[in-house]
Amino acid sequence: MKSLKEPWKVYSPATGEQIYAMHGTDNSQVEEMVQVARSAFTRWSSFTVEERLPYFSSLRNILLKEMGQTVDVISGDAGKVPLDALVADIMPVLDFIRTIEKDAVKNLARQKVKTPILFLGKKSYIEYMPRGVVLVISPWNYPFQLSMVPILSALIAGNSVIAKPSEVTPYVGKYMEELFSKAGFPEGVVQFAHGGKELGQSLVSSKPDYIFFTGSVAAGRKIAAQAAGDLIPVTLELGGKDPMIVCHDANLARAAKGAVWGAFTNSGQVCMSVERLYVDQKVHTSFVEAVCREVNAITQGATKEDDIGSMTYPHQIEIVREHVLDALSKGAILQTGKHPDEWEENSMFLEPMVLTSVNASMKIMNEETFGPVLPIIPFNDETDAVAMANDSMYGLNASVWSADITRAEALASQLVSGAVIINDVIISVANHHLPFGGVKNSGVGRYHGENGWRMFCHEKSVMSDRGKKDSEIQWYPYGGKYTNFVGLLQSYFGDRKKWGSFLRHYLTLLKKSK
Ligand code: NAD
Repeated sequence: MKSLKEPWKVYSPATGEQIYAMHGTDNSQVEEMVQVARSAFTRWSSFTVEERLPYFSSLRNILLKEMGQTVDVISGDAGKVPLDALVADIMPVLDFIRTIEKDAVKNLARQKVKTPILFLGKKSYIEYMPRGVVLVISPWNYPFQLSMVPILSALIAGNSVIAKPSEVTPYVGKYMEELFSKAGFPEGVVQFAHGGKELGQSLVSSKPDYIFFTGSVAAGRKIAAQAAGDLIPVTLELGGKDPMIVCHDANLARAAKGAVWGAFTNSGQVCMSVERLYVDQKVHTSFVEAVCREVNAITQGATKEDDIGSMTYPHQIEIVREHVLDALSKGAILQTGKHPDEWEENSMFLEPMVLTSVNASMKIMNEETFGPVLPIIPFNDETDAVAMANDSMYGLNASVWSADITRAEALASQLVSGAVIINDVIISVANHHLPFGGVKNSGVGRYHGENGWRMFCHEKSVMSDRGKKDSEIQWYPYGGKYTNFVGLLQSYFGDRKKWGSFLRHYLTLLKKSK
């Protein structure tokens, strides 16, 4: 990144053309940003959820009006095809704003909870309080969706937000900043810090009240360790090596199409893309043929008619190269796509690759590739398939394909994964009613779903008494109460409640507590 004085030139990975120039945020600005966020929080958190909603509606309408421009910014900056930007970046954000408009008031409202009869005369409820300043750090692969959804979740709950989008797709970061400003969000409620990981580190050190991080396992570890020093709660949405299990009775035509989309959409730069495919050996050969046929029909380019765009980040190409070469050197067969030695120098486009004869000793089966490569491996039986699928340090998403839903659900239950999809891929993340997140190295915590509303809140428990009695049975004096408390507990916690005895002891205790 250039210094603040020099404009930061942004190039499209697909065309190589300069598409934007902007200024980044200097580390020295962080302190002031946090102060601004703290003072904006005071005002924003005093708004009711209803009072916050019009800003979200305004944002939705601007997005609808500027849809074409938003697509151009995302696909230009990330190299993804326009349809990917529309369906996987913009649509989930619009859908999430709609969900906020419909459900936020109810989900963030005070929730009454039961009060045990032992605490007669009291009532209890939970209030969802905003945490304060939320730091959202996001990656480049879905630069719009993966920033906007956590930002919006934090904002509707009454927090102020500092967002640090990825330095790999900075134009999208600047564009989001402008969208919020056009939607009229009050000054300082949402601020954007544009820069790389050093800026991210400064922001983490600035002691925000909550950190929501999406990105690599390595960065997630560092952020969690840094945040732990200040006891800052963190959600980590990290990488994946998602398995797909295809049973012999699956609709193989659908499974082949699903595998190809699941592995190659966004050039495979998807935390939930299909990165390992296990297929029943009975149908292995015909399935590999079907997959290759589908792959060979894919078009690559940067237009609205193309299926796959370019890679976004040159560094990622090197990881893909390393994984493919490692697999080929250990006996893998490239069924379709180009050998890395034939890749065009300096091109950001990688042809989709299908590998067979792969095994667990290869990086392609263990480490996150995050590129357009689909390794396919046969399994003997379902126990074998589940064991191989679970043999991973990741656990973000998985899919199971079978015509027998009972069989598919039984397999889904055995997978150690944050989500499982039956006869489809990736799609669970688009349902905002389902929690999203990973197990093992794929992350800590969940957003979306019920929890997504409240994760940016701390739960305040309130228990209330009308204050009419002068004392409580468990208050002083203790003298003479012990036997009645024993009687109270025995009558209440036995297999059958003895209400008569309970009441007698309770009333005696009340009398002794005057
Ligand atoms: P990355 O970890 O390199 O960077 C992500 C963000 O973190 C960027 O904004 C970066 O500037 C910032 N950052 C990096 N190190 C930091 C540090 N020490 N302190 C503060 N900020 C820091 O990841 P990436 O290459 O942008 O994204 C790809 C990774 O993200 C893949 O592993 C992918 O699986 C993962 N991902 C996960 C999800 C999910 O929801 N689980 C979604 C998309 C991507």
